[in-house]
Amino acid sequence: MDLRIPEDIQLVGEGLLSFIDAEVVPLERANADLLRNERNLYGADGRYSGEVLQLRKQIRMKSAQAGYYTALGAAELGGGGLGPLAAAYLHELLARTYGPSRTLIHFVVVPSAFTNALTPVLKFLQPAAKEQFLPAIASGERTLCFGLSEPDAGSDVLAMKTTAVRDGDHWVLRGTKQWITNSPYADHAIIFAVTEPAKAGVRKQITAFFVDTRSPGFDVTSIIRVMGHLGGETGIIALDDVRVPDAHRLGEVGDGMTVAMTGVNAGRIGLAASCVGYAQWALALTVDYCKTRRTFGRPICEHQAVQIHLAEAAMDIFTARSTVLNCAWRLSEGAEARAEIAIAKAYCTEMLGRVVDRCMQAHGGMGMTNDVGLEALYRWARPMRIYDGTAEIQRRTIAMELINDTLRF
Ligand SMILES: Cc1cc2nc3c(=O)[nH]c(=O)nc-3n(C[C@H](O)[C@H](O)[C@H](O)COP(=O)(O)OP(=O)(O)OC[C@H]3O[C@@H](n4cnc5c(N)ncnc54)[C@H](O)[C@@H]3O)c2cc1C
Repeated sequence: MDLRIPEDIQLVGEGLLSFIDAEVVPLERANADLLRNERNLYGADGRYSGEVLQLRKQIRMKSAQAGYYTALGAAELGGGGLGPLAAAYLHELLARTYGPSRTLIHFVVVPSAFTNALTPVLKFLQPAAKEQFLPAIASGERTLCFGLSEPDAGSDVLAMKTTAVRDGDHWVLRGTKQWITNSPYADHAIIFAVTEPAKAGVRKQITAFFVDTRSPGFDVTSIIRVMGHLGGETGIIALDDVRVPDAHRLGEVGDGMTVAMTGVNAGRIGLAASCVGYAQWALALTVDYCKTRRTFGRPICEHQAVQIHLAEAAMDIFTARSTVLNCAWRLSEGAEARAEIAIAKAYCTEMLGRVVDRCMQAHGGMGMTNDVGLEALYRWARPMRIYDGTAEIQRRTIAMELINDTLRF
């Protein structure tokens, strides 16, 4: 097993940082008051202001022209096909270099698995729909959201109630989707719906649809504000007899869960790697602070209790990073690595919470301030243990594989 990052991927990373420094950082600085002050960032309804959305689009499209926006997308969709090791490396690099910011870098340069650019789920589009929709998605002009969860169906996704009923060449969708990231801004929604209810001994049938968010009956009824923000990314979608052409079905009828699970591993690797990068950023900041802040006549890094915070954080980061790289290597070798990725997702998201907490503690009162950035990271880290499969559901996956003898250590 060789966990060194190949030189060509490191070069992509260097290019990506140069791109951000040249194109994104100056724009962020010029718009600091808009992007860093939540009273300006969001409108009264919690949606991003039009100016913010315009800036995000501008960066998406520049990044697409430079080749970064779709660099991690599958080659068969027209993406760069750089693969899992690059995904892990680039996500870690970005988080480590720029730290937490709810700004342009964080959201648009290397996209998340489901909301921007060439998500693997798009492989399931029918050929004519691919031709029609992929160019505007790949160019950053249009964005997506992924509507699986519902008010009564999160971990227990098969409990979903949204239905799709066939009507000639169309399907008619009815129901509610909740927690859907980017839904207030997306042009297209990937919606999962029940196409056949459960019968005696047969599971209900779920099918995926590619829905135009401007369709009559499609409405984002509210923004869900999380962790102290005045607005945000997640919304509730009401589907009131939304008509979707059968030609916009993703995959076969009844194969919705296969569609849903495609790309989940890639997404989890990216998320876990971001956690590693943010933890590295926080620890570097904290080591510097502890060398300069003095109490009782000496730098606080000379107090053993503070050293323990630093050392524990380093142990956590080293373990998490090794886990992510190991999983990325397994995926690049063609292995499925389902349980190992569940371990990485659960471990890295929890690791980040522990590390940020220690870093805040070592900063004393300074760690609570908005200026240092640790509180923003603390708020970013917490939901990571919930979405994309909760920490408990990851443990369930790991335990099932142990019990079924498909995982051994
Ligand atoms: C910020 C944010 C963004 C999101 N974005 C999206 C999105 O874009 N698209 C989308 O479809 N969804 C999205 N979600 C939804 C997310 O996937 C769900 O919140 C998550 O799957 C958990 O579901 P739930 O909230 O209904 O919790 P529940 O399923 O009700 O779980 C409640 C608690 O019970 C535990 N639990 C449940 N079942 C079991 C079990 N069998 N064994 C052990 N413990 C169990 C859970 O781990 C949790 O601790 C997002 C959520 C958040 C917070």
